Amino acid sequence: MLGKLLSREECAECRLCCCFDSYDLWETPVINRATHDAILEKFKPDQDFLELEGYYLLKMQKEPDRDLYYCSLLDHGRGCIMGKEKPFDCRIWPLRVMDLKGTRVIVLSPVCPLVQTRPLCEIQAVAKELAPEIFRYARENPAAVKKYISGYPIMLTEE
Ligand code: SF4
Ligand code: SF4
Repeated sequence: MLGKLLSREECAECRLCCCFDSYDLWETPVINRATHDAILEKFKPDQDFLELEGYYLLKMQKEPDRDLYYCSLLDHGRGCIMGKEKPFDCRIWPLRVMDLKGTRVIVLSPVCPLVQTRPLCEIQAVAKELAPEIFRYARENPAAVKKYISGYPIMLTEE
């Protein structure tokens, strides 16, 4: 979550971006090698992963009675056990980086209910501030870039 737009208290009441149904499992964070190693060394030594061409997805357990998967790094009382070291996808959420016909764009996920209540100019200002870091990460970690999904509002286009 973006601390400049959303407070820890607001997110603690929500947690929507740390749980997934089978339809949106594709939204789980794409984890690079450095973050994979940090998870095993510092946060959850028994974490299992799915490996995908040098990147990793967290293995999550389905809730027994419903189509729901809580992130395996979520502590229901304290939040993400990785704190400020959480995966890049999660640090910039609800912003996402996507590929629109060969051009990288920063988009706003329509899934986050609270960010929709913030003024658009404030969201765009945060996207602009983070753009150099986001596009650098995207260049170095192409697996983090999703194909553009129609309807996701574009906040910024890479120059
Ligand atoms: S979906 Fe939005 S409001 Fe909810 S926890 Fe995630 S960032 Fe916070
Ligand atoms: S890694 Fe942390 S912030 Fe990201 S989905 Fe899991 S619990 Fe949420």
